[in-house]
Amino acid sequence: MVMTGLQAIPVEVEVDGTRGQPSLIMIGLPNKTVDEAKERISSALQNCGIRIRSIRTVVNLAPAEVRKTGSALELAIAVGLLKMYGEIDWDTTQTMFFGELSLDGSLKSVKGLFPMVLAAQELGVKRVFFPQGNAKEISMIEDLALYPINHLRELLFFKNQSPKPLINSLSSKPQEPKIDVLSQMVGQEQAKRAIQIAAAGRHNILLIGSPGAGKSMLAKAMRSILPPLTKTESVEVTKLYSLKGLAQTGLIKERPFREPHHSTSTVGLLGGGHLLQPGEISLAHQGVLFLDEFTEYQSSVQEALRQPLEDGRIVITRAIGSVEYPARFMLIAAANPCPCGYQYHEAKVCKCTPREIANYQKRLSGPILDRIDLQLKIQSIDPQRFIEPKPKINQTALANQAASVAQIVQLERQQKANAFLSYKELQKFAQIKLVSWQFLSQAAKKFLLSSRGYLKVLRVARTIADLEQSEEVDKKHVIEALAYRIN
Ligand SMILES: [Zn+2]
Repeated sequence: MVMTGLQAIPVEVEVDGTRGQPSLIMIGLPNKTVDEAKERISSALQNCGIRIRSIRTVVNLAPAEVRKTGSALELAIAVGLLKMYGEIDWDTTQTMFFGELSLDGSLKSVKGLFPMVLAAQELGVKRVFFPQGNAKEISMIEDLALYPINHLRELLFFKNQSPKPLINSLSSKPQEPKIDVLSQMVGQEQAKRAIQIAAAGRHNILLIGSPGAGKSMLAKAMRSILPPLTKTESVEVTKLYSLKGLAQTGLIKERPFREPHHSTSTVGLLGGGHLLQPGEISLAHQGVLFLDEFTEYQSSVQEALRQPLEDGRIVITRAIGSVEYPARFMLIAAANPCPCGYQYHEAKVCKCTPREIANYQKRLSGPILDRIDLQLKIQSIDPQRFIEPKPKINQTALANQAASVAQIVQLERQQKANAFLSYKELQKFAQIKLVSWQFLSQAAKKFLLSSRGYLKVLRVARTIADLEQSEEVDKKHVIEALAYRIN
């Protein structure tokens, strides 16, 4: 099995031995990979006490036209040789083998095992042999006999009797207790409200404020506020993490939260590289992509985010081929208001000239701003000013409950979060009152809202209505949504 994007393609290993010049020939793999694989497989077999027979051996990996990367096929090739030598004579039909071999015959974990095994199951495979290091990652897959192994030698122990399943379920770790970040933030009621709305409808949000105003804290609060992944989302996310070798702990149940540094390369962020791997935006799929100090990201990187923000996926095209990865993330961008950082500060004075501020604000790309649903200026508040005791209720848990209820409402109504509704879907599902449409049309003219901005307001208004459990979107919901766009 090999992966192209998130698509798994089965590969058949055929081994044939004939008389002739003793040699090992592999067909269907890129040259460089062949040499490395040959060496590892031969060495691993010898370390299991298997003599490489002096015959002309041809290993054919079919289909030939499929580009095969990675070394997950090595175990299957070794098994093919062992079968030809008669060292393994149990039935290997409906069985798949995954694993990279070390020179000593031990098995190394492989990337992308989760999606490959799911695809194998769909093809009717009944048994899977794979490296022990991947055991947790696929332990939750049911109705399949799983055989985690550490060493190629283990396959020889079965000799001519069919192996019995070794393990199945491994329990997952309990969730860590959530910290009540929201209650720790005194004042900032408007910011907390905006974060709550963003979480409930999975809207992109821009946080502008001085250093220390609490931008990072708000972003991190999102982790605890976002509703849990649905089962389908969870499988989707785990597949992507598995491709990067990041799913060792099993099925991923919490929404991803990725915070790549602004020095991260475009390939690291968007995906690609020589293995065409998913990037940060795909690892943030169904979760959060937090870009702190957003103005520090190169404008080319900001621009490159436009398409995935629009489509929820990314297509990476290189000379060696093209792949597509899902990238339906929620963007949280944070930035200082001006070069010195203190433009809206209560106590400190901004030292920037109007020109410096204007130049700085140009670094926030206009097309990106247009794709952000909620834009928020956060005032710095001196905590000493608040003598009130901290609230006794867990505000974060409360916000999480509200967002979870709103998620259920959205899924029942339209099978997706409000942020991801198209114009047609908005018309069909959003139940926007006529007065609300009329009001927004007037406001759009007055504030020169783009058509994209107009739709963003409608989506956010729908979420505000959902948090109130209101079936229809009222004028007041639109007014509040507008307030998060016009500054
Ligand atoms: Zn300043």
